[in-house]
Amino acid sequence: MLRIGIPSALFYYVYYPMWKTFFEELGVQVVTSGKTTRQLLDYGVREALADACVPVKVFFGHAMALIDQVDYLFIPRIVCLNKKTVYCPKFLGLPDMIRYGVANMPPIIDVRIDARDRKDKLYAAYYKVGKILGKTPRQITGALLKAKTSQYKFQKLLRSGLQPIEAIDNILTDTKKKPLDNKEQLRFAVVGYPYIINDQYINIDIINKLRKMNINVVTSDNISLFTLKLQRLGLAKRLFWTFSEHTLRATSYFAGRKDIDGIIHLSAFGCGPDSIVDRFIQLNNQSSTVPFMNLVIDEQSGEAGVATRLEAFVDMVKRKKGAYHNA
Ligand code: SF4
Repeated sequence: MLRIGIPSALFYYVYYPMWKTFFEELGVQVVTSGKTTRQLLDYGVREALADACVPVKVFFGHAMALIDQVDYLFIPRIVCLNKKTVYCPKFLGLPDMIRYGVANMPPIIDVRIDARDRKDKLYAAYYKVGKILGKTPRQITGALLKAKTSQYKFQKLLRSGLQPIEAIDNILTDTKKKPLDNKEQLRFAVVGYPYIINDQYINIDIINKLRKMNINVVTSDNISLFTLKLQRLGLAKRLFWTFSEHTLRATSYFAGRKDIDGIIHLSAFGCGPDSIVDRFIQLNNQSSTVPFMNLVIDEQSGEAGVATRLEAFVDMVKRKKGAYHNA
């Protein structure tokens, strides 16, 4: 049986259920690289360009973990999916960075997906992938339909309040996790790129840390694209990087909600777009009274430093709310 590797980083948190279903329906075994560990991060830091952002270094580590385990690596070159914004140039160069930056990589399937090219670009890209794997148009169409159903279920679970890892577990295993939400507790929004919010190793497990402090957590991943689109931004220009634009819109959405007690923006050290996103967030939400904190994640982020900042922020929000007696 053919084996295809999907590194558990970057787009993994957005498209894994769809990709896994697509390949399995085609009779291909999917192999992932598992959770980020110190060792994977060290691999990535060693092999990636020194000035790459942390998530790209993490991706390198995950890709390296799959060497010798698979016949192909799947690293699509996703450029644009909505005809308005594009993905950061690091995503566009990812297949080449891995192919030429790491020795002994298996062949990489790197179809380009750019919705601006033609209407059926997404279908065309998946057809190309199926053909590389020797499948017929009929098999590919069937697999793609099932894959889209899987992705729809995934997105529905995210809208219900589950985080991507929990939703993936629900779909692919027998786990039936439910969103944790206690109306009596404070509610924080965590915003940022999905691959930072959901990588428990690089963000020092911030979501569970907040939950242990009796805080309900919602994230940008819980908002539908439709709701994000409806957000009116008070800025003269729009951001043209897709994930940055989502982060800005998600913050605007949460800043306008009465049931959100604090917003934490997780940004990545070495990220070009993030160097302006935080400023744009502040400019766009000047009238908001919801407390806001930016936490920059880098490969050296220490448990104690992050925990101290979180505790201080939670403490400040509780004081503001006068919630000490109910905590
Ligand atoms: S948006 Fe920033 S963090 Fe994400 S891949 Fe690009 S540079 Fe890295």
